[in-house]
Amino acid sequence: MDAELVQMAEVAEACSRCRCGCCKDQCPMYSELLEESISPKGRNALIRSVLNGAVEPDERAVRIAYSCLLCRRDEQSCVAGLRNSDATEAFRRYLIEKGAKLLPEHAALAKSLDNYGNPWQESRAARKRWAKGLQDKKLVPGKTSTLFYVGCTFALDRTLDDGPKALASLMDKAGVDYGLLLEDEVCCGSTAKRIGDIKLFEKLRRENEKRIRGTGVENIVTACAGCFKTLEQDYPDLSEDISIMHSTQFISELIANDKLHFPKREVKVTYHDPCHLGRHSDVYDAPRRVLLSVPGLELVEMKSSRQTARCCGGGAGVKTAYPEVSQKAAAKRIREAEETGAEVLITTCPFCVQTLRGAASAVGSKLKVEELSVFLDNLSHERGGGHR
Ligand code: SF4
Ligand code: SF4
Repeated sequence: MDAELVQMAEVAEACSRCRCGCCKDQCPMYSELLEESISPKGRNALIRSVLNGAVEPDERAVRIAYSCLLCRRDEQSCVAGLRNSDATEAFRRYLIEKGAKLLPEHAALAKSLDNYGNPWQESRAARKRWAKGLQDKKLVPGKTSTLFYVGCTFALDRTLDDGPKALASLMDKAGVDYGLLLEDEVCCGSTAKRIGDIKLFEKLRRENEKRIRGTGVENIVTACAGCFKTLEQDYPDLSEDISIMHSTQFISELIANDKLHFPKREVKVTYHDPCHLGRHSDVYDAPRRVLLSVPGLELVEMKSSRQTARCCGGGAGVKTAYPEVSQKAAAKRIREAEETGAEVLITTCPFCVQTLRGAASAVGSKLKVEELSVFLDNLSHERGGGHR
């Protein structure tokens, strides 16, 4: 067994000695399904039973393995400090390597990733659709040091492509010299990794590394929390040589260097921490610094925020495999946001925007769900905003 699987076995073993199981109170999947097997302890017990041969890795076991958002919320209250989310991700990989089939819902995503380099069954050429008028931003190797890595969902979901447009516009206003891969961009592999298809992930990683290294860039900026976590943590060679920044960190630096400023706007907003940006990457302050740079803006925190923030319910293949549970988890997050009295719920991940918007509409909420760059770019079009 490699290090990842050894760690998985250790987590399962350590958890079996725990008598409390109190972590499940924080688990959004358990709180919707109320099944012990769909809790951190239940899943760890399954890992242990499969490893010692007491349980066959059959379809039911596979379904349980995929009943986790990999959100790490439980880990904040785990008495043993266990990395349950990493153990579950490794367990998915273990099951696939032992011959288990991907869930049919996930197999379609994997097939699309393999054929088109994105999970949304869109052609490779469609990836540049969002960038009308930005063809001159195609990265020329050796000419530009910053790559804006857009990611599949921002580039291909027509309801979200105002996100990359807004970030490009903010970078233009701040005078940043950046380049795009456009149709040559390939999925970072986050989806493949989270669903345990490690061969597919490695294929995408190799292809991406080759293309990115071929550009000679020194920095990568991405607005997608999933791409950020994946490029920074699952591409160890690349992230050693190239600085990877989330757009919130990048914008925060632009503001600190007096390259961007925003006009006064009296508005009450709340901020949702995407799991991949918060608990997985420890980026909590940059988005808040950015928001608080807007004069007149009031930022109100939800009952659960930062390390204990509720997951939007959209992560790690759960939205595809357990759509109803995902929607209920998202509706709870919308209710929390409404309780703050904010007019706008701002977040910084395309999946969170997609999931929370869907839930807001399903529960008839008046709350506006906006991506941070879009919110800022709209402000900067108002009188007085933009660059210095
Ligand atoms: S608190 Fe930690 S060790 Fe205890 S049951 Fe939960 S995950 Fe296992
Ligand atoms: S990662 Fe999230 S969904 Fe998975 S067990 Fe932990 S709290 Fe539950």
